[in-house]
Amino acid sequence: MVNPLLGLYHIRAFGYSCYLLVDGDEAVLIDTGMWGCVRKIEALLELLDFEWLNLKAILLTHGHIDHAGNAHTIASLSEGKVYIHRLEHAHLRGEYHYSKANRWCARGEALLRRFTHYTPATPDIYFQDQDHLPFWGGLRVIHLPGHTTGHCGFYSEKHDILFAGDLFTYFLRPSLPPRSFCTAPWFLRESFDKVAALDPSGILCSHSWHPDPGQTRNGFDRLYRRICRGSICLPENK
Ligand SMILES: [Zn+2]
Repeated sequence: MVNPLLGLYHIRAFGYSCYLLVDGDEAVLIDTGMWGCVRKIEALLELLDFEWLNLKAILLTHGHIDHAGNAHTIASLSEGKVYIHRLEHAHLRGEYHYSKANRWCARGEALLRRFTHYTPATPDIYFQDQDHLPFWGGLRVIHLPGHTTGHCGFYSEKHDILFAGDLFTYFLRPSLPPRSFCTAPWFLRESFDKVAALDPSGILCSHSWHPDPGQTRNGFDRLYRRICRGSICLPENK
């Protein structure tokens, strides 16, 4: 979705998305993607008559390579500061010690790191739950662990939209991310309850065919109802 009125731009590639948020002559990026994304972001900046230096910050929902893959390159091009939760440090470095339950995630990431010549970004700022970030009229960090321990969303009070990262996916139907890609699933229920209590009118997630915030919010409600009914079982303990 491109919504110039809000300054909200959706950059889509190979099943994942990044978002460029524009406010005046400043832009911030939520997640950085992998192949092809740098070129797409650059083209979008040009379209907006911006340069890389207009990009002030790179906000990472978590450290998986499909979100942080270009953070190093984009930080070098733009001099934008890299923001992430401290608990994502090992993921970002590619040093996270995956358990057996997450072996497919571990193998996939290792392969992608080699294939893309991954260089980890150096975080400039570690945020935590409820921190206020001075971008796009103000973004509040919402810690939503479960997919990873330091996984966070960003909530815009001004636009009443939550960027929910990988809390859920929304292709054919709203779903949890695959079990192998969730390293702390026992926190998921708490995170879903937190989003339901926040009650944003719009939600955008990173892996979705539905770039409309209202539609994705409806998808969240459908998924949350299935969780509350017990049709989807979430682990309660480690
Ligand atoms: Zn992820």
